[in-house]
Amino acid sequence: MERVIIIRYCELHLKGKNRGFFERLFAVNMERALKGIKHEIRRRSGRYLIEGFDEDDVSLILSKLGKVFGIHTISAGYKVPSDMGDIYSAAKLVCPSAGTFKVETHRADKHFELNSMQISAQIGGRLLDEFKGLSVDVHDPEHIVYIDVREDGTTLVFGKFIKGAGGMPVGSAGKGLLLISGGIDSPVAGHMIAKRGMSIDCVHFHSYPYTNMQAREKVTDLAKTLSGYTCGMTLNVVKVTHIQEEIHKKCNGEYMVTLLRRFMMRIAERIAQNCGAQCIITGESLGQVASQTIEGMTSSNAVISEMPVLRPLCGFDKNEIIERSKQIGTYDISIQPYEDCCTVFLPKHPVTKPKLVNVLAEEAKLDVATLVDEALATTEVIKL
Ligand code: ATP
Ligand code: MG
Repeated sequence: MERVIIIRYCELHLKGKNRGFFERLFAVNMERALKGIKHEIRRRSGRYLIEGFDEDDVSLILSKLGKVFGIHTISAGYKVPSDMGDIYSAAKLVCPSAGTFKVETHRADKHFELNSMQISAQIGGRLLDEFKGLSVDVHDPEHIVYIDVREDGTTLVFGKFIKGAGGMPVGSAGKGLLLISGGIDSPVAGHMIAKRGMSIDCVHFHSYPYTNMQAREKVTDLAKTLSGYTCGMTLNVVKVTHIQEEIHKKCNGEYMVTLLRRFMMRIAERIAQNCGAQCIITGESLGQVASQTIEGMTSSNAVISEMPVLRPLCGFDKNEIIERSKQIGTYDISIQPYEDCCTVFLPKHPVTKPKLVNVLAEEAKLDVATLVDEALATTEVIKL
């Protein structure tokens, strides 16, 4: 009897001719997630089997695979020779000893001596004899023992379908550059887009020494957590201190955030072009704070010329975003209390509906091109 983990994938069937490409990518992503853990991955009639791992690693493997996009469901179970005695031994291991249950059999091997009804009835009967606390409920059982008699002479026996991360394999939908702050929203935005198959790199802006090194650590931790879902990533860290000082010195303070956003976007587009990203992703949510009005977005969009800006959280309430950040494991990092560069030199009354003409008039007081180049020259590249 051999331990196996069964992986079923989603949506790949939709992709017609590209199916092979999607499947290869999916397998590569699983390999990357399981790097350093002993295992073998095999493709078997529309699903993948993971075998050859140590029993002690089962929960580790399940938690790693839980982050691989494209996985529909996962089951941990046993692979046995297609023999009723062996099938029963495995069924005993996956079936709890009390409660209501049923056995559900799928038989791909049409030459097997019994049909699926007979297999379910015989195995179910023996389980009832063995465990006195069990009773059958075929309509709404607490437990189901699944038996899958395959064409290659082996049978898979398992007890649960664990929900996978869903989505599409990362790398199947191009690459995007995520503006990651230390907040709750941007990691969630990155996760949502990665789930649709996009590879993600990140850029973070800091204003050291106005913001501290812990703020940076925090962002690195967030990016690391996100990279568990994106099969690795590159984090670019850019210093915008001088830009903020210049805005503070020369411009109407009410425009600090609006102007800074435009610089962030310009720098992000340049980094995106260098790393082959095809879009910019932000964690903005419509109307959430003063700077995230449609006028604010119009102002920051206006400096981007060659790519779309994706704002996947636009239609989300804060509590919906918080819920997702808890699910993906970024919330506890995000709520650590370190300052973001947007809070430096923050005016009492930032403009909430900036008019583009006024923004341009303020920006004309700055040497934009030089400031952007200077900031880009400070870029540190961290591989995660
Ligand atoms: P978050 O929770 O992601 O920080 P927020 O609600 O605090 O979002 P803002 O601070 O207005 O909103 O930022 C909006 C978006 O701008 C962020 O989601 C992020 O994409 C980007 N952003 C803000 N600050 C930074 C920064 N220091 N570095 C990189 N991107 C940033
Ligand atoms: Mg923020």
